[in-house]
Amino acid sequence: MSLKGKVALVTGSTSGIGLGIALALAQAGADIMLNGLPDAAAADAAIQKVTAYGVRAGFSAADLSTSAGARDLVRATHDELGGCDILVNNAGIQHVAPIAEFPDDKWDLILSLMLTAPFQLVKAAAPAMQAKKWGRIINISSAHGKVASARKSAYVAAKHGLVGFNKVTALEYAGTGVTSNCICPGWVLTPLVQQQIDALAAHDNLDANAAKSKLVLEKQPSGDFATPDQIGQLALFLCSDAASQITGTEISIDGGWTAQ
Ligand code: NAD
Repeated sequence: MSLKGKVALVTGSTSGIGLGIALALAQAGADIMLNGLPDAAAADAAIQKVTAYGVRAGFSAADLSTSAGARDLVRATHDELGGCDILVNNAGIQHVAPIAEFPDDKWDLILSLMLTAPFQLVKAAAPAMQAKKWGRIINISSAHGKVASARKSAYVAAKHGLVGFNKVTALEYAGTGVTSNCICPGWVLTPLVQQQIDALAAHDNLDANAAKSKLVLEKQPSGDFATPDQIGQLALFLCSDAASQITGTEISIDGGWTAQ
């Protein structure tokens, strides 16, 4: 499949799942707008990996916890790369605490970044996709968009909210050539999850491997992580003509987590 001539904006793509998706789309020929809040070395490394596929890459450190940041990012994608045919809403963070102790500012930050930013990005990007009669919106939700875990109230609320927002997007753009879908990963070994492994190791006095196994097996029957590349390949499929009638769905890639 070729995405030559298409431009993909992937939020939070300097690391983890977002980078995996950016590389899968770049390998298929799409020009890529990278985004994230990394140090300069990580941003340069991401740009180099993408351009190694012979495509154009832009980078923006737009802070997507603000609506202005989200709007600016779409504008920058059009200015630098000439359009935005594929939008991947991926940027995210985690904070783990019981509701009674959950800090208000963390709740606001998670909801802003992981629910309001996708709304602002779709609002800014989808009309031009509709005008071109082709577009792909891919929202990275989570197993936590379908089921809950204790101590992750803001994250679970944002991911469930994203599943609902995705359905509305799909209905409003149905028949226009623009599709909107959620990918719902289970555990993927990225910096976001490494923090949780480190916290578990410290809390339960486990070594790194034991903590990793305990974390995965508690939720994911396959006993193994999915990889950023596997998420990227699923995103790539959703960009194909074969997926033109897939819209408004939430597709799990979770080793059986939500089958339970
Ligand atoms: P990660 O920490 O590796 O990457 C997060 C990315 O988001 C980075 O590029 C970071 O710079 C960017 N980011 C953070 N705050 C930002 C902000 N305010 N503005 C712009 N960019 C910002 O995390 P990951 O594990 O790759 O997670 C990516 C997405 O996948 C998240 O939405 C996460 O909820 C979701 N997810 C992850 C897993 C998993 O197991 N890792 C499972 C399900 C869903």
